[in-house]
Amino acid sequence: MKREKGLLIVVSGPSGAGKGTVMRYVFEKCPNMRYSVSVTTRAPRAGETDGKEYFFRTHDQFAEMLHNNEFLEHERVYDNYYGTPRKFVEDLLADGFDVMLEIDVKGAMTVKRNRPETVTVFLCPPDRATLESRLRGRSTETEDQVALRLGAAVEELTHARDYDYVVVNRDALVGAEEIASIIRAEKCKTRRNIYFLENLIYGGTSNYDD
Ligand code: 5GP
Repeated sequence: MKREKGLLIVVSGPSGAGKGTVMRYVFEKCPNMRYSVSVTTRAPRAGETDGKEYFFRTHDQFAEMLHNNEFLEHERVYDNYYGTPRKFVEDLLADGFDVMLEIDVKGAMTVKRNRPETVTVFLCPPDRATLESRLRGRSTETEDQVALRLGAAVEELTHARDYDYVVVNRDALVGAEEIASIIRAEKCKTRRNIYFLENLIYGGTSNYDD
């Protein structure tokens, strides 16, 4: 079996943290990184394509995948189910790509529990006022809806302390650079370079697949 060579990274953060823009920059800075495409039962939004943003599946198809243990983690978010497809992620890691999961806090903690080598990053808005104005700026929502979303965002923030890293999104480019730096530093960790060191010391190939 091929040994996994890539790094598994999870980024979470409440809506209003500015995750979309930051993550676009992160992918520009990290050409070896691939996005893990989740499976969801929610309907595609305008402009979304099956296999790109998500794999869109019916509830029955999702249940079948769950039954076959095809998810690394899965959660119900609002009224829909979301899951990280195990094989999709493991194949990318085995091929040497770093894999980015953008999932909610519960899913992130499941992945971390099952695979402690996962690097978890929580992206925060810089302050409450920015969080609120970003949530408001999204659409023509009622005050009640904004209050609901704000409450959900604040609840998510309470889980930040369980992550390996917290990145504050004061500026999207700086935030992206911080995430890229975290990834670079993690890849230099001694325990991630044991096979490399063994080959260097004792000879042999630098191929991890032996
Ligand atoms: P949306 O439907 O707006 O794309 O995503 C709604 C929420 O579901 C977001 O918080 C997103 O991070 C989360 N999410 C997306 N994919 C997954 C997944 O595979 N697993 C989990 N646990 N959450 C996910």
